[in-house]
Amino acid sequence: MKPKIWLSSPHMSGVEETYIKQAFEANWVAPLGPNVNGFENDLQSYLNEDRYVAALASGTSALHLSLILLGVTNGDEVVCQSKTFSASANPIVYQGATPVFVDSEKDTWNMCPEQLETAIKDRIEKGKIPKAIIPVHLYGMPYKVNEIHKIAKEYNIPVIEDSAESLGSHYNGQNCGTFGDLSILSFNGNKIITTSGGGALVTRTEEHKEKAVFLATQARDDAPHYQHSHIGYNYRMSNIVAGIGRGQMTILDSHVTKRRSNHELYKKTFSSNNKITFLNEPEGHFSNRWLSTILLDSKTTREGLRLALEKENIESRPLWKPMHQQPVFKNAPRYLNGVSDDLFERGLCLPSGSNLTNEQLDRVISAINTYFAVC
Ligand SMILES: *Cc1c(COP(=O)(O)O)cnc(C)c1O
Repeated sequence: MKPKIWLSSPHMSGVEETYIKQAFEANWVAPLGPNVNGFENDLQSYLNEDRYVAALASGTSALHLSLILLGVTNGDEVVCQSKTFSASANPIVYQGATPVFVDSEKDTWNMCPEQLETAIKDRIEKGKIPKAIIPVHLYGMPYKVNEIHKIAKEYNIPVIEDSAESLGSHYNGQNCGTFGDLSILSFNGNKIITTSGGGALVTRTEEHKEKAVFLATQARDDAPHYQHSHIGYNYRMSNIVAGIGRGQMTILDSHVTKRRSNHELYKKTFSSNNKITFLNEPEGHFSNRWLSTILLDSKTTREGLRLALEKENIESRPLWKPMHQQPVFKNAPRYLNGVSDDLFERGLCLPSGSNLTNEQLDRVISAINTYFAVC
């Protein structure tokens, strides 16, 4: 068997170990310490819009705390992009609220502004104003920020920007991760930078950050004994993990460059294959191309190609299965136009890592060419 080629795997700079070593030497082996503050500062200066960053255990915990900060509770409704990873929606249910799923548009594959407005109007008519809107920059492609935020503003609904896949992307020159009333980042093992597992909450005010850190560290009141007047969580990032993050920040931009060049290579190579199409960047949208995605002409071709790659020990994966199709969300309200269902049937993610070698990319390309030569 040929060695495995992964969809997206961790890619260290080498500097990570220096920060971890410092943490061990100072015995900062805890969910606080200089690496946590350092990593937060690195992210704040990278994002560059006067935002505050709280480093947390995961992107999921950042989403959960966002909902808590916005007061989402039992019986509330929260609008969420249907085409996404389940972690965008699960925290809504942690709060006893109901997700309302909204379909995608074709230009970015993200939340459709028309469907969003339809959904909001209909929920209001049915008696409830949604408490928040969660759009996602899927695979690194910025959603239609102006259109979505205009509607949110019109109805006075806060936006939680799920930027888990889009650190390094920007929209009209402004970094993804800075558009929401609250925004979240993820540093899980397959993301554009990783801390093995981790995430962050990006806030516009220092008060929000402090409240998030308070809740993330078991909501301990100011007292010599342990005293609690809120339910707390154990959601803070550890100082060891944050050391990996500091190292990763030194190579974030080069990871974006490499991932974008993977995408360009696929696009150029398959430009004359009329069964493969690519998602181009609309004007003003700059994608980190976290994952290189393609659309095939049919579900049969997509599945055939996926199996052909699997035979060559090359990992590929269908695009996210929309949340409205997930058994666990079968009762959730949904506002659909068919776009995300079609993307799920015909879309495939190709190996996209920043550590892919030319030999590995050649193997992927020749496996795809072989498949189309015989099919
Ligand atoms: C990865 C991801 C998350 C969750 O982040 P974790 O750090 O894995 O908890 C949330 N939303 C999207 C779109 C993601 O891709």
